[in-house]
Amino acid sequence: MARFSPQRELILDILHATKAHPSAAIVYEEARKKMPNISLGTVYRNLEKLSQEGIIENFIFKDISHFDGDKTPHPHFCCKVCGKVTDLSCDNVKIHNLVEGLDGCEIEGETMLFRGVCRECKNK
Ligand SMILES: [Zn+2]
Ligand SMILES: [Zn+2]
Repeated sequence: MARFSPQRELILDILHATKAHPSAAIVYEEARKKMPNISLGTVYRNLEKLSQEGIIENFIFKDISHFDGDKTPHPHFCCKVCGKVTDLSCDNVKIHNLVEGLDGCEIEGETMLFRGVCRECKNK
């Protein structure tokens, strides 16, 4: 087993413990509580690498990159007013059936986004 840096482990722990789909800035804030010396650059680099390696998912909504430690294929609902991201549950197999027609293609990750206004914002 490869040994990973404690910074990387901490960032992964943070992402696995939240459903909030945090931005890099928020992951950084969280990471600093446990590791006061961690730099924003380190957080960015690790998030980038984890995304490239397919260990985490990321998607851009309202020009902000959101990171998701949950690798189970699932769509999201994003509120354009408050920016809140909500996980939607959905049959994994069915989502992947969508790409079955693309012969020989292998799925490494997915991002499904529904955009709109959440209930709280709508009722304001
Ligand atoms: Zn909202
Ligand atoms: Zn999610």
